[in-house]
Amino acid sequence: MNITTETKINNEAVDRFAIRMKETLISAQLKGRSGWYDPDVCSRQSLLDQIRKYLLKSNPGNWVDIACFCMMLHELSFSESALEATAYSKNEYNSLIPEGYVLAPSELTAENGAKYLLLGEFAETTTVTCTACSYNLAEEGDCEVCGGEGEYSQDVAVSWTNIKAIYRKAIEELALPTEAAA
Ligand SMILES: [Zn+2]
Repeated sequence: MNITTETKINNEAVDRFAIRMKETLISAQLKGRSGWYDPDVCSRQSLLDQIRKYLLKSNPGNWVDIACFCMMLHELSFSESALEATAYSKNEYNSLIPEGYVLAPSELTAENGAKYLLLGEFAETTTVTCTACSYNLAEEGDCEVCGGEGEYSQDVAVSWTNIKAIYRKAIEELALPTEAAA
């Protein structure tokens, strides 16, 4: 790829994105949200509060929403360190989580590392009747399998399917309700 092609791709992408931003800003204006450039209408602090909120959202179009706030902060000559100050710190996240709770994934998957960590970690020990003995009772007493006990214990690994199912059930029943589910 030569410089000209790269420049063309970049310019076209920025132009497309700018159109999306303009549409978003017009739609906000129609909803009565305007005046970001006027500190009497929109305080500096509220702009920071807004972008902080939008950085945690996941709705379609949120990249464009975030970009609009970046544009405003840039135009108003906000120091970039202002954003750093708005990001939730680890302690702030922790303070949002009630005592006795943790932030954990909603599902166990290979992708989040759970499969590697948990597969083979758990086993059930069951007692099995020795079939070697029952087929040849004459050998009772010196059975190679059970040593004459007539039964022996066997470890059965808990399957990945069951590990996931147990976790899913616990999360379903015990996790704090989310805003959407409430
Ligand atoms: Zn036996």
